[in-house]
Amino acid sequence: MRFFDTTLRDGEQTPGVSLEPHEKLQIAEKLSSIGVDVIEAGSAAASTGECEAIRLISDAGLSAECCTYVRAMQGDIDLAADYGADSVHLVIPVSDLHIQKKLRKTRSDVLTMAYDAVEYAKERGLIVELSGEDASRADPEFLLEVYRGGVERGADRLCFCDTVGLLTPEKTATLIPPLCIAPLSIHCHNDLGFALANTFAALKAGASCAHVTVNGLGERAGNTAFEELVMALEVLYNYRTSIVTGEIYHLSTLVSKLTGVALPVNKAIVGEMAFTHESGIHAHGVLREPSTYESVKPETIGRKRRIVLGKHSGSASVDAALHEMNYRPEEKQLKEIVKRIKVLGDEGKRITDTDLMAIADAVMAIECSPVLRMKQFTVVSGSNVIPTASVTLIVHNEEITSAATGTGPVDAAMEALRKSVADVADIRLEEYHVDAISGGTDALVDVTVRLSKDGKIITSRGARTDIIMASVEAVIAGMNRLLREENENRSKTPD
Ligand code: MN
Repeated sequence: MRFFDTTLRDGEQTPGVSLEPHEKLQIAEKLSSIGVDVIEAGSAAASTGECEAIRLISDAGLSAECCTYVRAMQGDIDLAADYGADSVHLVIPVSDLHIQKKLRKTRSDVLTMAYDAVEYAKERGLIVELSGEDASRADPEFLLEVYRGGVERGADRLCFCDTVGLLTPEKTATLIPPLCIAPLSIHCHNDLGFALANTFAALKAGASCAHVTVNGLGERAGNTAFEELVMALEVLYNYRTSIVTGEIYHLSTLVSKLTGVALPVNKAIVGEMAFTHESGIHAHGVLREPSTYESVKPETIGRKRRIVLGKHSGSASVDAALHEMNYRPEEKQLKEIVKRIKVLGDEGKRITDTDLMAIADAVMAIECSPVLRMKQFTVVSGSNVIPTASVTLIVHNEEITSAATGTGPVDAAMEALRKSVADVADIRLEEYHVDAISGGTDALVDVTVRLSKDGKIITSRGARTDIIMASVEAVIAGMNRLLREENENRSKTPD
């Protein structure tokens, strides 16, 4: 089977999403290298930016086919051909509802439009995927007539669009087989959460290609999610796709970053919590044997399992986390540490690595003098200024002042901090996350960061009403922990 990815067209139609041509190219390159067969790069008629993106992608020499969305209009088809697309996704409304209410035309008008467009696109040397919009509400006989005539006039492939997500797997199983008179794609929407099930049902019924989007982006509730379809086929049906699954998470985070659409934390496969365990029983289980509570191995999609600590944690996971940080608590100390974690957890807090270390230090009476302290911090931002931050840190009793600019005040602050410790260590900010704890502009802001140094990763937090100070506090706390002597004694017992 084949994957037709429409992240850059239907996915970009997600309300509020707009990608620049170079961002589209970046995603297209990743889609091609991960093994997607067709990339719908955009809709040439939409804007000049779209045309530029199609040109960039078609010129990039990707192994994937570069497709563009067109209506049954010569002008659209000309743009597709002129900007170098290999193929067109030629979309024709086929339900009476769309034909009469949207187009204000008749079925025979639609047949003429469709056939003329197919012929014209073939004349222009394009591969044609003739697509029936709102096919799930169309008269199946009329739909077949559209497809048959289209194929006779040279359409290479067909597509069945469940435009508003009204299919069921049962309907799909009966609707699809008679339509497979040429290679057929299935294009599903997730309005009722059935996109994946319907896509799968269509593939089983004879469709040979699935239209998908990364992270399930798309109009309204989105399209069939690429990562879910690939992993469901691989894991549940033992079907080997041509996709390099180890790159899925990277692709997903790239798309999330560039589109600005955050991943729901509990999203299948790619959500933050999809491979995170907190509860004592589950964490204990996966520490002994991952398959006890994991159906997909996180490594297969390029992720790692995470055990987080909170009020559900048991002593096994707390002990495992402490061991990783070189703490060797005695049983009594471990009990006390677990107790304090549960208290924090009950307050609704996520327990970061620095929280755990602070608790362990306190319980085990380990003295920890910070490696670095902040002496001053200034940030400037506003209209007509480049956000700039300066910071003075005392590192190993030496004063270091650094300044940096950034895309915003937080970015500038992070860069200034990184620079000031650059001589001591190469510390990088891997992840940055903000939660506002209450509703107004005076809200307490909770910033969580993931920092890394030579492959060692640490999470840390800062909570303030000032978002920049919360960020600085989180980073300094994390840096202090990363800079601690690795061979220091962490099994000291209380005096
Ligand atoms: Mn669609």
